[in-house]
Amino acid sequence: MQKKDHKIRNHVLIGVAVLVIGGVILASIKSAREIAIGILKWLFGAGVSFWNHLGATMPVPWWAVYAVAVVLMLLVWLRVKHILNNWAAEDANDPLLAYTEDRFFGLVWRWWMDSNYYPRDISTYCPACDMKLRPRQPGDGCSTEFYCNKCASRVGTMEMEREELKELVVRAIQIELLTKQEELSKTGVNE
Ligand SMILES: [Zn+2]
Repeated sequence: MQKKDHKIRNHVLIGVAVLVIGGVILASIKSAREIAIGILKWLFGAGVSFWNHLGATMPVPWWAVYAVAVVLMLLVWLRVKHILNNWAAEDANDPLLAYTEDRFFGLVWRWWMDSNYYPRDISTYCPACDMKLRPRQPGDGCSTEFYCNKCASRVGTMEMEREELKELVVRAIQIELLTKQEELSKTGVNE
């Protein structure tokens, strides 16, 4: 503790000594003092004139104002476009966002993935001819069936309601998504 105090005291003493000696030298050498004062005066004058310059007005034709505005807007637009393009490229490179099709329950399912990796607009397609299928709920509504107009046959019947089936497909997609995510983190592609 005491040693540290000594150290600080020594540093202060050295600093004071340098200032005093420097001051004495500057004061004794007249030309050096004059040079220092001259430099200070010049700096002050430059500062004052720049301040005045900032406050002054200048007649500028409107076309010049508009030209500068257009150039600025163009630069901002290019910057924004660049950022948007980068985002699009990132999305295109994201294999999890590219996962938009799979087979569940013997049928083809397609959707688009939002940025939270939630499947949107899930639709069903015939596994034989790729025709878009519409779910129907015959009888008591406790089952959902898919009929293909092109193949003229029933291609799938699920013993559950439409909403239940939709939830099941969403869950199947999310499970598959997690598996893909784990595979990616293992291979290090996503890092
Ligand atoms: Zn079909």
